[in-house]
Amino acid sequence: MHPETLALHGGYRSDEATGSVAVPIYQTTSYQFRHTQHAEDLFALRELGNIYTRIMNPTCDVLERRMSAIDGGAAALAVSSGQAASTLAVLNLCQAGDNFVSSTDLYGGTWNLFVNTLKGMGVDVRFVDPADPEAFARATDARTRCYYAETLPNPKLQVFPIREVAEIGRALGVPLIVDNTAAPVLCRPFDHGAAVVMYSTTKYIGGHGTSIGGLIIDGGGFDWEAHAERFPTLCQPDPSYHGAVWTEAAKPLGPIAYILRARVVLLRDIGAAMSPFNAFMFLQGLETLPLRMRTHCANAAAVADALTKHDKVTKVIFPGHQDGEVRRRAEAYLAGGFGGLVGFELAGGREAGRRFIDALKLVYHVANIGDARTLAIHPASTTHSQLSQEDRMSTGVSEGYVRLSVGIEHIDDILSDLAQALEAA
Ligand code: PLP
Repeated sequence: MHPETLALHGGYRSDEATGSVAVPIYQTTSYQFRHTQHAEDLFALRELGNIYTRIMNPTCDVLERRMSAIDGGAAALAVSSGQAASTLAVLNLCQAGDNFVSSTDLYGGTWNLFVNTLKGMGVDVRFVDPADPEAFARATDARTRCYYAETLPNPKLQVFPIREVAEIGRALGVPLIVDNTAAPVLCRPFDHGAAVVMYSTTKYIGGHGTSIGGLIIDGGGFDWEAHAERFPTLCQPDPSYHGAVWTEAAKPLGPIAYILRARVVLLRDIGAAMSPFNAFMFLQGLETLPLRMRTHCANAAAVADALTKHDKVTKVIFPGHQDGEVRRRAEAYLAGGFGGLVGFELAGGREAGRRFIDALKLVYHVANIGDARTLAIHPASTTHSQLSQEDRMSTGVSEGYVRLSVGIEHIDDILSDLAQALEAA
């Protein structure tokens, strides 16, 4: 079925207990076992079922199934935030002494996680420029456990070469993890060879800006056993689970060794679970995601066109305005539009950026993306203010750079607010 249909029907028909058509909020910590044998079978994974909401929950389960269906994955895991999703996605494969290769074009929070926290745990990140896919191969050695990248990273908004890097990885036995937060529905990374997809559901999937959450989806198409020496967490006996080998344990359940381990080991131990209430909130948002993405894309394209014609704007950064190889990638990996994010540079530099933001009336000034409302930020004075000017420029943030996450309001109202704020800039 199509994403519009799956967003409403995927993974659920009605509640078995009550017939409820809306997905109920199962706000419970635990689940009564039928008898001791039932409890024993659940703990031994001989039977799949609910034990404790830190590890699984029926409301979260519908969100997991629905988003997995939209992306063409095998199974998913809901977690407490996008940050938790990227942390668990990497730690599910990497242990102290291992490394992974990441694109340099990353969300700042992910950058910090990789450079400081994971490094402090003995997991070494190797950054490479995504303009050269072969750089991933050159950075790979026997202890490389995965590649990591964002589909549509801001502020540069240059789409990642998913198929090129996924193919290099598959030849070497290294899976590609893709953060698809900025391009849900527009891009299905599994179709291009990615092994694992993750989201901050906080952004477009929710759309309402009320809840923090994350998802990890297992594509089910990576052959862990063919490269068993690279993946000890999945292919060697796990002492924390009476010696289970996850690739073996998953066999009766499907090609879900990766996500099974993430759930029953990492979520069990680290506990970054999504609350059932937030899963319900994300299901409400998800119902209209394909519809909203179309309007985000159309409005962003109109905003990018209008900014290009404005005399105070020196540069517009939008995938639909790029050319050459970057444009080819945008067209190859995004379908139905170029996303909802637009960057631009003001001729008047930092002070013009501040004046523009302060003059906005409709558009919100917040450090977020993917809300149904239009959002703006001036990174040089906020998110990137701690960086040296040199480092800031290398991330693509100039003094007069403004980032817009274009919402789904009427386009005329968005354009008129931007126009009056540009007067003041
Ligand atoms: N990935 C991307 C691309 C993001 O933009 C963000 C947040 O801005 C995250 C991950 C982290 O998500 P969360 O804020 O839900 O932890």
